Amino acid sequence: MNDLKQKLIKSEKFGSGKSKFTFVVGLHGDEAAPVIAASELKKIIGKSDLRGSFQIVYANTQAIKEKKRFIEFDLNRCFPGRENGKFLEEKIAFQLVRDLKSSQFTFDFHATDFSVTPYALISVFNKQIEKILEQIGIRNALFSSEESLIKYVANGVAIEVGQKDSIEAVEACLKIMLQVVNLFGICDKPLLLQEKKVRTFLIYRFLSKKGLVLDAAISDFKYVKKGQRIGWISGDTVVATEGFYPVWVNFQERLLFSKRIKIYDED
Ligand SMILES: [Zn+2]
Repeated sequence: MNDLKQKLIKSEKFGSGKSKFTFVVGLHGDEAAPVIAASELKKIIGKSDLRGSFQIVYANTQAIKEKKRFIEFDLNRCFPGRENGKFLEEKIAFQLVRDLKSSQFTFDFHATDFSVTPYALISVFNKQIEKILEQIGIRNALFSSEESLIKYVANGVAIEVGQKDSIEAVEACLKIMLQVVNLFGICDKPLLLQEKKVRTFLIYRFLSKKGLVLDAAISDFKYVKKGQRIGWISGDTVVATEGFYPVWVNFQERLLFSKRIKIYDED
């Protein structure tokens, strides 16, 4: 059993004592930027004295090796997984949930097919998460209802760091990782923590991008006013019928509309 586990998931612990948080990389094996950033992080902190500890989990080692999103089934659609599941990824999902049970914070790093400014995907939102996102410089957090890893761990946050193999994404990811390491007091690397108020969003509809030429002014999480030009379809102007925040403007198929939301906790 342990042998099998070694093959499916790889984890590395840094420092001593109980892990304060976990970085998950390679949940999608073709998203190289976070995996590369993790190895850069190791080089940087390897020379420092660490206070406390954290772990890096390489979620789908086989897929990372083969540079594929997944081997048999999209891992992020397999949670909570099954111990004796039919697909390899169902077994990985099951083990991940079990292995991350004691992790109090999990940062699950992803990269996209198209360029994006780093943003967070959240399924829980509380004062701690709000503060962390603000202090690591993540400005925008998108609420997600998908059955993904972040729903099955405590304080799970997924972070999209940028376009898959781009150097910008590696740099953005490394910077975020260093900010987290710094924030949790693991080591003192001279970093500029820029607190920005985090904004939360919910996607509520989309527009097909078939034939749509987007106006250059449309960009991720930048408010589009009612009546503002979104773009053109066969020369005809398409105008916003209501105010919204666009998401994934560089995605080929759809333009996603989101609204800013405020989350109220009753307790
Ligand atoms: Zn991904």
